[in-house]
Amino acid sequence: MNAFIDKIRRRAGLYLDVRPATIQPTRGVLSLSFDDIPASAWLEAGPVLAQHGVKATYYVCGGLAGGRNLDLPQFETEHLQALHAAGHEVGCHTYEHVSTLRLSPAELDASLARNAAWVSERLGDYQMLSFAYPFGDCALTTKSVIDGRFLCGRGVGNGINIGRADRSLLRAIGLERRRLPNYDLEKLIENTAASKGWLIAYGHDVSDAPTPYGCKPEDIDRLIRLAKAADLDIQPVAAAWRLAEGARPPS
Ligand SMILES: [Zn+2]
Repeated sequence: MNAFIDKIRRRAGLYLDVRPATIQPTRGVLSLSFDDIPASAWLEAGPVLAQHGVKATYYVCGGLAGGRNLDLPQFETEHLQALHAAGHEVGCHTYEHVSTLRLSPAELDASLARNAAWVSERLGDYQMLSFAYPFGDCALTTKSVIDGRFLCGRGVGNGINIGRADRSLLRAIGLERRRLPNYDLEKLIENTAASKGWLIAYGHDVSDAPTPYGCKPEDIDRLIRLAKAADLDIQPVAAAWRLAEGARPPS
């Protein structure tokens, strides 16, 4: 019964209280993001990003620092500081890594405030500008909280963001071993370029033996090569949001 109710609540979050935005960059855009920040998302993916001169977005939960998640070591504070110093964006993923289906708006707001304070203390007054939903779960009552604190929120619903979108729940494809075989990446990149859309990808761990939620370094390398060949602008989420919004025609 609870699973059924959660399903209904996810649907309500997907279709109701849409915060409309027009995504219309002057050329197609790709954003790469990593959720939770397993240590390998920095130690393995960081060099691939550096090799291509690409900046990504790392969605952090202060409460996961130095711990384990999905049986993998998570980031240490120095990893977060290093990726920030390298020019990557740090975004918010709640403090405790909890589904928004399990939080009242006040509890969610407290979790976001706690994460903001935690990050700010470690990154020198840094302010996070974008948000990713843990487990992709977006409760209906969550959107106004996210909208009040961030430029945009990212879910895990497949697809390219083009034209009218919900800025509180942007679409994204999973750089995940369980999902990658189902995508035609060439086609997705081609469509993003042709439609001048915004494709966001998210992943977790990165290694030659990834979990079902992670990918290999070569998967990231391939996606970046395809995006560059199609002349996509590769930007972290908040910067991409500004590009997409910046080109919005006057209404
Ligand atoms: Zn997560």
